[in-house]
Amino acid sequence: MTDHRCKVLVIGGGPGGYVAGIRAGQLGLDTILVEAARVGGTCLNVGCIPSKAMIHVAEQFELAHRFTGNNALGISVSSPKVDLPTAMAWKDGVVDKLTGGVSGLLRKAKVRVVEGTATFKDGKTVQVARSDGESDTITAENIIIATGSESVELPFLPFGDDVISSTGALALDAVPGKLCVVGGGYIGLELGIAYSKLGSAVTIVEMADRVLPLYDAELTGPVTKRLDELGITVLTGAKVTGARDGSVEVGDAAGANQRIAADKILVTVGRRPFTRGLGLENLALDMDRAFIKVDDRCQTSMRGVYAIGDVTGEPMLAHRAMAQGEIVAGVLAGKNESWDKRCIPAICFTDPEIVSAGLLPEDAKAAGFETIVANFPFRANGRAMTMEREDGFIRIVARKDNHLVLGIQAVGAGISEMAAGFGLAIEMGACLEDIAGTIHSHPTRGEALQEAAFKALGHALHM
Ligand code: FAD
Ligand code: NAD
Repeated sequence: MTDHRCKVLVIGGGPGGYVAGIRAGQLGLDTILVEAARVGGTCLNVGCIPSKAMIHVAEQFELAHRFTGNNALGISVSSPKVDLPTAMAWKDGVVDKLTGGVSGLLRKAKVRVVEGTATFKDGKTVQVARSDGESDTITAENIIIATGSESVELPFLPFGDDVISSTGALALDAVPGKLCVVGGGYIGLELGIAYSKLGSAVTIVEMADRVLPLYDAELTGPVTKRLDELGITVLTGAKVTGARDGSVEVGDAAGANQRIAADKILVTVGRRPFTRGLGLENLALDMDRAFIKVDDRCQTSMRGVYAIGDVTGEPMLAHRAMAQGEIVAGVLAGKNESWDKRCIPAICFTDPEIVSAGLLPEDAKAAGFETIVANFPFRANGRAMTMEREDGFIRIVARKDNHLVLGIQAVGAGISEMAAGFGLAIEMGACLEDIAGTIHSHPTRGEALQEAAFKALGHALHM
């Protein structure tokens, strides 16, 4: 048993926790970070990074396949194959490089990392059960809870054997012949599309009346079209009710049932905050359903106890967790910081990709704004043509009275790289005239943003 004392204790080493730790260390605060598994958390180990690595493998494989037939580029390739264990090993290498990098950054910031599971004894004391059976007690002036989230399990489809979560799907040793994806949200679509490109026959079962119900139908339209081109079966308004003998039972709203053969069933019906074993019963925290309630300084209802990241609610995104981590470290160092962001851009790494920053048209309307909405299609963009990807568009939502940009959304191949620009425009309070008046380099797909602004102002140039 070892006793530690510190100014700041961070529980959880995901994007929220490790950023809070690094920043607290940089600000000269004596900091300890406790991590039960591996630093990097869900995002680096079993989430954002490995999923994007496997999406890249799938895209490269599909591209190689495309060149086995007649194509406008005159390229020919014969019988491409993918060895999944090799691809997974490459993906693991990327993960190891990044998690090793995070450990190095924590060391550089003089953050002490303790490996083990933390349980609150009271608002200032935590017990850490280490993997070697020993335990540590840590007493801290301030404690940041950054324990993240976990996959939701369906009671009638418990994870195990052929029923897998995203973590299982990112560690398969062979491409499943038939893959049934339950839940057509972020993970279901990203991984469903990837496995389809790797050769699986994919069926997506979504209970809402369309996939990615978070976004409007205009935005998801190009993705739905691509799902069809890839031969992915999409069952909407449908629910899996059980599984047996290598198949799943699916029922629709009208009461009709069908069975779908599946070698693997990937359940991606959402994630929930992870607080199991944390000893929250020893604290008196206000909760927002299962999430820990925080104010704009990430402070919980108990003095000296803070919470950041997925455990504090939607949107459960790595960059939100990181932004909160940076703010809370500043707050603990006595800086006058608080959450004042205008938007948290979201990206769905589907094919094509979807980006949404700020308000969707219907959100803006619901918030009481009279708006101008303009959308510029990539089929009128030169760069998109040279890249053989003319699907999709960029859309701007602006206030009618003063032209303040309220939202920018886009769907298109590789459009994720424009998310930062969309966010920047909204954070800086850009008006349509600011975007229209900014020279956008030619030929780039980014010109579609300037053209959407021109169009909103009533004078599109290239349409
Ligand atoms: P986490 O990353 O979940 O980290 C929490 C850490 O706390 C874990 O390491 C855990 O071991 C540790 N912990 C928990 N309890 C204890 C305890 N009692 N003691 C000690 N340690 C503990 N987001 C994006 O923005 N972009 C993406 O492209 C993206 N892709 C994703 C793909 C997948 C397949 C998944 C599953 C998620 C994805 N996400 C993505 C979401 C993203 O991973 C999360 O939003 C992000 O990881 C949240 O960070 P966090 O720090 O709150 O928690
Ligand atoms: P999600 O909330 O994105 O999607 C879940 C989907 O499952 C929804 O469309 C819902 O209608 C459907 N659903 C729920 N219960 C169902 C049932 N019984 N049968 C059929 N469909 C059902 O959840 P997810 O895909 O599991 O992802 C979890 C979270 O992880 C996301 O909300 C996001 O915060 C994060 N994430 C982000 C990214 C990214 O930023 N690119 C990628 C992956 C995950």
